[in-house]
Amino acid sequence: MKIKLSRHKTKIVCTIGPASRSEKILKKLIHAGMNVARLNMSHGNLYEHSEDIAHIHRASEEIGRTVALMIDLPGPKIRIGKVNPDPLPLKRGETVTLCTSGKPGSLSLIPVEYPELTASVKKGSLIYLNDGFIQLKVRAIRKDEVDCRILVGGMLLSRKGLNIPGSPIRIDAVTPRDLEFVEFGLEQGIGLFCVSFVERAADLQKIRRFALERGRKVRLVAKIERKKAVKNIDEILDAADALMIARGDLGVETPIADIAAMQKQLIRKANLRGIPVITATQMLESMTEHILPTRAEATDVANAILDGTDAVMLSEETAIGRHPVETVRMMARIAASIERPEQASQWAFDLLDRFKKKKEKGTISIEDVISLDVIEATRILKIRLIIAPTETGTTPRRISRFKPPCWILSFSRDEAVHRFLCLSYGVLPLLLDEGDGNDWEALLEFTRARGLAAPGDTVILTESAPPGSRQNTGSLRIMRL
Ligand code: PGA
Ligand code: MN
Repeated sequence: MKIKLSRHKTKIVCTIGPASRSEKILKKLIHAGMNVARLNMSHGNLYEHSEDIAHIHRASEEIGRTVALMIDLPGPKIRIGKVNPDPLPLKRGETVTLCTSGKPGSLSLIPVEYPELTASVKKGSLIYLNDGFIQLKVRAIRKDEVDCRILVGGMLLSRKGLNIPGSPIRIDAVTPRDLEFVEFGLEQGIGLFCVSFVERAADLQKIRRFALERGRKVRLVAKIERKKAVKNIDEILDAADALMIARGDLGVETPIADIAAMQKQLIRKANLRGIPVITATQMLESMTEHILPTRAEATDVANAILDGTDAVMLSEETAIGRHPVETVRMMARIAASIERPEQASQWAFDLLDRFKKKKEKGTISIEDVISLDVIEATRILKIRLIIAPTETGTTPRRISRFKPPCWILSFSRDEAVHRFLCLSYGVLPLLLDEGDGNDWEALLEFTRARGLAAPGDTVILTESAPPGSRQNTGSLRIMRL
């Protein structure tokens, strides 16, 4: 039972859709480097999603590699309905009507599933479709119709998103439909959810409470895609387990020119807290059609990793793209290339310095001290592996944010803790069975038996306080095998 370490440490999130839902493709995606499968509740139906879940479980079991399942809740995303024809050609300068009454689509009419549309726009408002690729300007508003002039045209597919930048969404960030999807996820044994259009901590708390009332604990990824979320980021971070930089909507809801700066700022905040962060949308967009990415896309993936992201995400590329497997392979290759220690960014050093200063001042938690000491040791000694038994996942995550040059093996008994670590950079999560001991001899034996370390290797072991005590992780051991 040997385990092969993957060549890339950055985690790859793949959105599952028609192009990737067969077991055959799923297996290929796992071999290519998929760590997390994202089920987007904006598309498909619950029957399809439950089939996808079963397929992903089977594929991951057969290959013997953990894949975390993540349910993406649509939130109050405004979407157009079915266009006819699909795709619908929209030409610059022409007029098109957005209609909320339920009329079927035609060449000059686009159905919209948002009754408040007419109240949310004024004459002259800009409306963006498909992440801003198509732009409309409002000319006239009637009872349930909005006439628009097409400023930027293009081919429009059914169910694409609609944004009215700056206009408050007149729906709660967590809709009753979202809660139904949470219920569905919990029934399916999934406890990891992405929450769209979060604006404040209360949005996350609503879902957490809903699950708790059902006796379940969930892990929540706050999708940052509105100006308000960027403004309230600190309270959101207090309430979230992970962050997603949802650049698709963020690039429409805020000035697109600011997006690189926002990405860096958000990643840094997540790194400082030691929580995983996903960079999402259009990372290898052109591979939806083509076999190679653009130079800009290949560079974007690498730069997000240098910024400090834990995970990179694929959306249409793997959901409806023509080359899902090649796209994941490409992402893995780009990641492996930029992860070499000599490429380390200034931010990696700055992050370490900040914690060193805090340590000198004595204003730092036990887990932060341990993570810092582990990293110091990897700088001085040639360390093969970091072995981190964990109850909550905190210790491996805090080590992970410093992007050490070797792998972190996390050992846990809790399935949810184990799966959630699939999102953290450079962590190989391992699940202990009932029968497996978790003292250091047992963990070393586990590691040796799987071919992850050999005699002569030096490893670091982080040690927890004895079970039952209320202390956090307490010490580390450096050992020569
Ligand atoms: P979405 O979220 O794909 O659900 O819209 C990601 C984004 O907005 O970037
Ligand atoms: Mn979005």
